[in-house]
Amino acid sequence: MTERAERPREEKIRCDACPVMCYIAEGRAGACDRYANQGGRIVRCDPLTVLDRRIAKGDEIRPFLKAEWDGALLKDDDLFVTAVGAGTTYPDYKPAPFIVSRAVDGADFVTVVTEAIFSYCGVKVKIDTDRHLGHEGAVIRAGGEVVGLMITSEYGSQMMSLGGVDHLTGGSKPEGRVTCDTLMRLCNREAVELEVEGGATVVVQAGQPPIVDGHREERMRVGCGSATIGMFASQWQGLVDEVVVVDDHITGVVSEHQAGKVLGWPDTGIKINGRRSTPGRYFQVADPGLGWGGTDITDPLTILGVWNPKKGARPGLSLLMVSTTGEQYGYYVLDAELVPQPQPLPETLKPSVDLIAENCEPALCTVMFMGGAGGSLRSGVTKNPVRLTRSVQADRTRVTVGGAPAYVWPGGGITIMADVTRMPDNAFGYVPTPAIVAPLEFTLSRAEYRALGGHDDRARAVEDILEHGGDYGADVRAVPPGDKAG
Ligand code: SF4
Repeated sequence: MTERAERPREEKIRCDACPVMCYIAEGRAGACDRYANQGGRIVRCDPLTVLDRRIAKGDEIRPFLKAEWDGALLKDDDLFVTAVGAGTTYPDYKPAPFIVSRAVDGADFVTVVTEAIFSYCGVKVKIDTDRHLGHEGAVIRAGGEVVGLMITSEYGSQMMSLGGVDHLTGGSKPEGRVTCDTLMRLCNREAVELEVEGGATVVVQAGQPPIVDGHREERMRVGCGSATIGMFASQWQGLVDEVVVVDDHITGVVSEHQAGKVLGWPDTGIKINGRRSTPGRYFQVADPGLGWGGTDITDPLTILGVWNPKKGARPGLSLLMVSTTGEQYGYYVLDAELVPQPQPLPETLKPSVDLIAENCEPALCTVMFMGGAGGSLRSGVTKNPVRLTRSVQADRTRVTVGGAPAYVWPGGGITIMADVTRMPDNAFGYVPTPAIVAPLEFTLSRAEYRALGGHDDRARAVEDILEHGGDYGADVRAVPPGDKAG
């Protein structure tokens, strides 16, 4: 008979901060890596991030560093307790992890702080590029899974809508998992590779230039082709006989454009192969692509038809063709057969091309987190949830995401949008339901908080929070500005 060694039974305890309800062994973290079992107690793994307005210029706020705090009394409005690292209370009727009472300019305020679990959320991505990333409505994949789609282009930028409840919960398990991971990484300002069906592969990182099919974008276009003509027509007058600004949306021709007409620009007999919208403004001169001005062309002469001598075309007539970023340009002179022949760009025209480039802003990716905060999490703020909604909609309650101001959409609910570059590092997490965990703060006057049925008896002073942390051991730990938390 063999004797089995008596192994001490591993004591697991249950995390109740989300519906997954993980059992976590001593020294281990739960499924989301946000909570761990430390000495038989569930603790939040990341530090609570407090923003300190004193150590930054103007309104910029930086993570508070308790290690450098000499214990001197701080003015309440110097410090702002964010929800980053605060933890989540679940189910939602429990009061939020931190309800902070503060005096701001002598008035009593309350900030209710929670790491909210968002099933209804996503990101809107603005990518400053002329290059064609994909057709409107084209699906976007990350790691082979569909995570969103291309939406309407904006001025000088292409837009993506990623995530949302359908991708998080309505598809296969891998689709939900990859969507959640993609959103979290984008919100935490990591670089993510996205593939547009029938289009380009783009590396997107908030606050950084996009990389389109391996090409790092440098400049956002100065405007559409027509706007470029409008801005610079007078600078070309007297230096060249014709200017064409090649653009996928609106190609501009200076001799026909109103800007040229006002300057008394003579006709040149030019013919553009495209759909004429109004004088000097042409749509669809080529297909969209990665070439000149977001078209698929590499030789701009392909958008020109036969020159008409009856309307001003003549041998020796000069032509400048330029893209909307000034990255591509060509100078041509009509030969005896009225065929444009390439010539070096005259020195006199160079400054005008440089001016287009100079007027282009740096191309960046912008990631806006968007989520619906009008659900059950309101119960962590007040016992009467609709009063919070009304207070937010009436501008009596201010909503921030990790300290960053949130735009609240008009209409019903609390649908918010916030710029992830204005938040502390690693502000976002996830739970494997799957859903995104985002820091959320509601700030309102104490009187308003009481009026809407808030958990007023749970309000604590900032100093108390700095000293004693919260339910999940969320002590204020050292987070040097710019360093990754956790
Ligand atoms: S997934 Fe995270 S928050 Fe949810 S129960 Fe597990 S450890 Fe807790």
